[in-house]
Order: sequence, then C-alpha cells, then structure tokens
Amino acid sequence: MISVGIEGTAHSIGSGIVKNVNGSCHVLSNIIKTYHPKKGGIHTREAANHHAEHLADVIAQSVKQAHLSYSDIDLISFSQGPGLGPCLRTTATAARALSLSIEKPLIGVNHCVAHLEIGRGTLDACTDPVLLYTSGANTQVIAFAEGKYRVFGETLDIGIGNCLDKFGRGIGLEFPSGPKLEKLALQGTEYLELPYSIKGMDIAFSGLLTAAEQLVAKKKRIEDICYSIQETAFAALTEVTERAMAHTEKSEVLLGGGVASNKRLRSMVETMAQERNASFFVPAQDLCIDNGAMIAWLGFLMYDSGVRMTLEESSINQRFRTDMVEVTWRD
Ligand code: AMP
Ligand code: MG
Repeated sequence: MISVGIEGTAHSIGSGIVKNVNGSCHVLSNIIKTYHPKKGGIHTREAANHHAEHLADVIAQSVKQAHLSYSDIDLISFSQGPGLGPCLRTTATAARALSLSIEKPLIGVNHCVAHLEIGRGTLDACTDPVLLYTSGANTQVIAFAEGKYRVFGETLDIGIGNCLDKFGRGIGLEFPSGPKLEKLALQGTEYLELPYSIKGMDIAFSGLLTAAEQLVAKKKRIEDICYSIQETAFAALTEVTERAMAHTEKSEVLLGGGVASNKRLRSMVETMAQERNASFFVPAQDLCIDNGAMIAWLGFLMYDSGVRMTLEESSINQRFRTDMVEVTWRD
C-alpha cells in the first residue's frame, strides 16, 4: 500500500510517501517547504497563503521523487490538527482535492501522535517509548497507557520553541532563532539564575522568558543568557520526561519536534536515559521536524486497522488533543 501524507499545521508544509515493509515504515520521499516570515513571527494568514501557493508543487515533487505516478497512490492522509486554523484548512483542502481527483480514500490524523508513530515505525528497537515532543507551538510528554496516547505533562503557556523564538526576536535574531540560540549558548560560561517552573507534571516557560528578557535589559552577556535558558528549560523538560518514564515503567525515550535538533537537549535526555538503563531514540532529522512522511505512516496504520473517514468527518480541529484519538492499531 502506497500512502501519501500531507502536513501543514504551522509554518511548514510537507508531502511524504511511505510504504509498509513487514511492519516497518519505508520512506520513499519526504519533501518539506517552510514559510519564512519577512519579519517577526509566523503570520497565520501569510503562512496559509504560502501553503496554498506551494502545496500542489510539493505534492508533485514527492510523487516524482518516489518514482511513482498519482495512479500508484492508495491512500491520502493529512494532519487534521492541532495547529493554526488557516494553515490546517489549506492543507485539508489540498488533501480533499487530491482524494477526490484520484478517487482514493482520505484519512485525517493527529499531528502529535504522528510524531510518536514515525519513531516506532522507522526505528526498529523503538517499540513503546515516552515521547518528548518539543516543537514551536507544542510541548508535550506523551506515552501509550491503557489503550490511548496520553499526555503526561505539557506546557501550561507557550511551547519551548516559541519561547526560544520570542527571546531571539527580542535580541534581533531572525525566525526561527532556536538554532542561533544554540550556537550562542556554546559560548556561555556563567549560569544565570532563571525561574524553573514545574507544576505537577506540567511546565511553564513565560516566566523564564520574562526573566531572560530582564537579564538582557540588565546588559548581562547574551551568550550566558542563552546558555542559562537552555540549561533551565531543558532540565525541566528532562525532569518531566523522566517522571513519565518512572510512572509508566517504560524503558524507551523518543524525541520529536524541531527543538529535538538541539544537541544540548539531546545530551540531557540521553544522559537521563542511560542513568535509567533506558534506550534513547531520535528519528532522522527530516522525520523529527514537521513532515508529510509521518502523516502518511500514521494514516496507513489507521487505515490498515479499519479506520475510514467520510469527507464530512474530515473537518479540521485546531485543538485536536492527543488523547482524543482512538488507537485502533496497537495494544
Ligand atoms: P517545529 O514547530 O516542530 O517545526 O519546530 C520549529 C521550532 O524548533 C522553532 O521554534 C525553532 O526555533 C526550533 N528549533 C529548530 N532547531 C533548533 C535547535 N537546534 N535548537 C533549539 N530550537 C530549535
Ligand atoms: Mg510538529
């Protein structure tokens, strides 16, 4: 079965094609195109216009790169939520149009669950992980428990990526500033105290952001501030992830989302895993960020387990929660 997945929840669009090889996900193509705002953060309407302009091309490229034609496609999946309304609507419209024109079934999938399933699908030893999903807008610790993917901890305010991007914008860095902050942090030598906000299993980042901005106003070294932001925020993320692993008695941890590219975050989580005798996994870079292949793979798993979706059921859901998904493809 050849499954194409269309992603477009936020600033990136993607079209990926996968096939199932003995229960593993084989990626045939995975094209990603990102909207870069001219200045400031993501403007949702502009992002959606970018997606509308480029989606048809991105889908065509993914078909070509997989050495297929449209008639080879058996299933079309798309990210139904959570995400930015205008972006989700544009993506869903493209997916519906493709489904109608090639007369193949359509499945809407949960974006956060797709980040977890692509790890299980492409990394053989990764079977039942706790996912630390750190992206621009989303920050969640997710694991399978009692028949569902459940959120064990999450941000109470902004996503970790947004926190890094907002701080970066304030000091004049271009969007996305996460990678630039990572470079600056390498030159940091002094740890500056910042709020470490964990409430139960949840985390808050806006207090840390405000305090970091105050350090800028006090003319502290930018490199030290970046270093301190990373040390504080990533330690909090690692702590919540470890508690979820202890609670669920799972021995695998998986990273997902754009911030998972960060080497300091990786090393903190990897150290935690080693100390617990657990396995540490990160998907390939293009499967870690927002991408179509992960959407295609989850759509395939759902379809294969009997899920069907009518056009009416394919409406988007900006607040599509991870634990709203009925998990029919595993136990
Ligand atoms: P996503 O929303 O999953 O596409 O991820 C985008 C977010 O990842 C943005 O907020 C980026 O600033 C952030 N990001 C990307 N690379 C890095 C990095 N190396 N370190 C920290 N954040 C990063
Ligand atoms: Mg994502």
